[in-house]
Amino acid sequence: MLATDRVETRLPDLKPALTEAQARAEAARCLFCHDAPCVAACPTAIDIPMFIRQIHSGNPVGAARTIFEANPLGHSCARVCPVEVLCVGECVYNAKGEPPIMIGRLQRHATDHVVHAGIQLFEAGPSTGRAIACVGGGPASLACAHELVRLGHRAVIYEKGTWPGGLNTDGVAPYKMHAEESLAEVEWLSEIGIVWRLGVEVGRDVPWVELEREFDAVFLGAGLGADSALGVEGEDLPGVWGATALIEAIKTGRQVDPLSVYSAVVIGGGNTAIDAARELKLLGVPEVRVVYRRGPESMSAYAHEREHATAEGVAFTWRAVPVAFEGNGRLNAVRLTTVDRGCNPVGEPFRVPADLVAVAVGQGRLETLLAGIPGGIAHERGHVRVDEATGRTSNPKYWAGGDLANGGAEVVNAAAEGKRAARGIHEWLERNGGSV
Ligand SMILES: Cc1cc2nc3c(=O)[nH]c(=O)nc-3n(C[C@H](O)[C@H](O)[C@H](O)COP(=O)(O)OP(=O)(O)OC[C@H]3O[C@@H](n4cnc5c(N)ncnc54)[C@H](O)[C@@H]3O)c2cc1C
Ligand code: SF4
Repeated sequence: MLATDRVETRLPDLKPALTEAQARAEAARCLFCHDAPCVAACPTAIDIPMFIRQIHSGNPVGAARTIFEANPLGHSCARVCPVEVLCVGECVYNAKGEPPIMIGRLQRHATDHVVHAGIQLFEAGPSTGRAIACVGGGPASLACAHELVRLGHRAVIYEKGTWPGGLNTDGVAPYKMHAEESLAEVEWLSEIGIVWRLGVEVGRDVPWVELEREFDAVFLGAGLGADSALGVEGEDLPGVWGATALIEAIKTGRQVDPLSVYSAVVIGGGNTAIDAARELKLLGVPEVRVVYRRGPESMSAYAHEREHATAEGVAFTWRAVPVAFEGNGRLNAVRLTTVDRGCNPVGEPFRVPADLVAVAVGQGRLETLLAGIPGGIAHERGHVRVDEATGRTSNPKYWAGGDLANGGAEVVNAAAEGKRAARGIHEWLERNGGSV
């Protein structure tokens, strides 16, 4: 059970649900374009004009079915997808200089309707007697398992953590989606017969050989590893956090007290850095500063997210890196140095007071986990290589998808890749009975 007083509950929903009247009015604006560019921009190719038409005609259940048929994670994607650079960014209204259709919020209108009311749209297919293990309980495995069960297979998800849902539950910014909404989606998807083994780490609690013995195929959806460290003096001081660990603490716990923080520094230039900074600012931390080693033009974070952060009062220090975290038993400052375009230190280091630091310089890779797979598996520095059409790996019993294979993308990509792998596994089982 999630604690009811966890920190994230203090953060509002920045894109709240539309009322029925608002949804119908917005749906009425859609031009129902032929060859709609919004569909082409969606990695799961949801038939957007179709579901918007269904909302317009007062059929939210039909709209939800259209969405979930294409994307099993359609409920969370409605909230967390970077629609500004996907479907909404491609909407034809942009070229007319008019506000694009609020596709994400319309999608949310439809999926909320069925998920919150517990209306089940899918059922398990006739049993094939086959079983597949999915390693990791995030969006990739969920999409894979849901599709497998619909195709008549038994799907068992192994998740080492306390919560199902992966980063949807403990990583995505709370002002986009609270943990309980991710859990509601997991529950709704699982109702069709997905089996969970929570708190079980594959490779440690269950050996790979046992999975291979028990299951016809294995899907790898284990995501990325823990926060990378900078290797800077003082990084072990209380108050210095890895960014995803901090966000997880905000989302699922109460051990961070933002009211006791006056000045926070976030190190990094990606979306995780911006998320951490915005979360701290919106939680009431008076001074929040992002420190990045290059200029704004080189940030991998989305420009629209950076603009939101700036508008909310997050400050930026460009072309600087930390050289030490300082404090006497507890962090009180970050020592920074300016760097040139080649990231070489220039000038004298300077001090920025800080009682909290979030290090957002990437997540580790799961090479050690992969090394334990019998017969090995091809990967590039921890990113598993897969066949583009089927998601199959170099090891004939294994398929993969999501962050573990794509190196870190979005929930919608994990959903698309999980579903692709399920189809790949199904075709292989159909074709040759599943003998390796
Ligand atoms: C801070 C942050 C914010 C993000 N915000 C967004 C956003 O707003 N929108 C968006 O679309 N995307 C966002 N993303 C990216 C998105 O969360 C990921 O692309 C997506 O969750 C990948 O899904 P996945 O299933 O591959 O991996 P994950 O969600 O990471 O799930 C993998 C799961 O596998 C488990 N696991 C690992 N090893 C084992 C093992 N040996 N045995 C059992 N279980 C194991 C892990 O505990 C984890 O729960 C964000 C990412 C981060 C880090
Ligand atoms: S591009 Fe815009 S107007 Fe056209 S179908 Fe998609 S949402 Fe509707």
